[in-house]
Amino acid sequence: MRRILWFRRDLRVEDAPLLTLEGEVLPIFIFDTNILHALSPDDRRVAQIFVQVMALKTALRLRGLDLKIYYGTPKAVFKTLQGFDAVAASGDYEGYARARDVEISHLLPFEYLHDTYIFTPQEAQKPDGSPYAVFTPFYNKAKTLFGAHHLRFYTPKKQTLVPCDYETLSVVGEGILERRPLRLDSIGFRAPLPEAIDVAALFAHLEAILPHYENARDMPAQNGTSHLSVALRLGVVSIRAVLRFLATQKKRDVKTEPFFRQLIFRDFYAYALYHTPRIEEANYKYRFNGVENASFFESFCTAQTGVPLVDAGVRELLATGMMHNRVRMVCASFFTKDLLLPWQWGEAFFAKHLLDYDKASNVLSWQWSAGTGVDPQPYFRIFNPYAQAKKFDLLARYIKTHLPELTHLEPKQLHDEDYLHTHDIAGYPKPIVEHKVAAKSALEAFKKYVL
Ligand code: FAD
Repeated sequence: MRRILWFRRDLRVEDAPLLTLEGEVLPIFIFDTNILHALSPDDRRVAQIFVQVMALKTALRLRGLDLKIYYGTPKAVFKTLQGFDAVAASGDYEGYARARDVEISHLLPFEYLHDTYIFTPQEAQKPDGSPYAVFTPFYNKAKTLFGAHHLRFYTPKKQTLVPCDYETLSVVGEGILERRPLRLDSIGFRAPLPEAIDVAALFAHLEAILPHYENARDMPAQNGTSHLSVALRLGVVSIRAVLRFLATQKKRDVKTEPFFRQLIFRDFYAYALYHTPRIEEANYKYRFNGVENASFFESFCTAQTGVPLVDAGVRELLATGMMHNRVRMVCASFFTKDLLLPWQWGEAFFAKHLLDYDKASNVLSWQWSAGTGVDPQPYFRIFNPYAQAKKFDLLARYIKTHLPELTHLEPKQLHDEDYLHTHDIAGYPKPIVEHKVAAKSALEAFKKYVL
């Protein structure tokens, strides 16, 4: 059997289903111009992916294999690949990815392997065979289904490498147009190259934070979460490796369930998007779709709303490509309820900047905050960003880290909306809305459209 092994969201060699397929193989990665052409040349994610692809190439070489790297559309690349029996790839369930894979399956038999998530999209179903639309019943079902096979380790089998020019990047259009050096600028990007993800360090960190995760995970000033999201997004870490790690910790009486629950959220969001693809763009429920206001949008995206926790979150995002989960929730609520902006605008803003950007998690989290998503709660969940700051960043350490212009203020002043409205703070704006008034008009706006 002569196969193309197409790496996409599984950029690793350990516990890799693709490496269990015996026979002759051509491992490939495609820098997909359908995606890249929409991005800015300094996009940090492309730089991170480039680094991980090169790390994968090195790791494959150490196993006697290699990685052929292309730049072009997948269709054009596959048209240049003749003499293969099949292409194997792990499942990718976003709308674009599914359409892309169908297109390629018309050129070559396609073997879809399960890798990225804990469960396949068909595994957890209601008794009548339909998919769950609500997290808690999905979670309860997931716990009953969860078994040893979800912890399976994929041992590599004997594979021989198809001869090919592995030393250059092949630029593909109508055929191979050009060969370029394997550098980020060869695909038109120029962000500084980050370090490759250090998987051992991530697991050491996970071991350290796990016992306190349940309480610390909501505190943005504490380093209380795993930072696994980028590694999971790119498949640099196998989800099964994380589960096996949790199993060993559980045997040591560490409470692992709160962390496991978050992993199931990740699975659920991918599952929900798989079964209801229209929600990538459209509300799952309610017709209300926000009010377009360019000035509010600009204030939010430039961290100039005058609401310290929201602005600190956006500053963190712009500076690092990450934002703490609790702050993502507060920002998304403020965006969709206090500012009444369309959730799709916020989703796109996060999509542009998040290093861990994942369509399913991002879209469904934004819809959750907007109140339009797969969530039994009606639209009236509205976070008070000042109360949230007081509860989760009492000493304003997170706020002051990202907004140094506020370090001279007392935490209680930063959590006091009246104070912020009535005092001039050098270099920092007054809040652009009054929370109580904004929340009331959000409820009224939603009420009109609820059917
Ligand atoms: P930890 O708390 O250590 O969690 C462990 C892992 O569980 C994470 O790496 C992630 O894979 C998963 N996870 C945790 N919380 C969630 C959650 N609420 N939903 C889904 N999966 C979760 N996560 C993304 O990976 N990509 C996104 O694009 C994304 N967009 C988001 C947008 C909004 C508006 C909100 C509220 C949340 C979003 N999340 C997204 C979920 C969450 O914020 C991040 O997964 C988390 O902050 C990553 O940090 P961590 O790895 O330290 O998380």
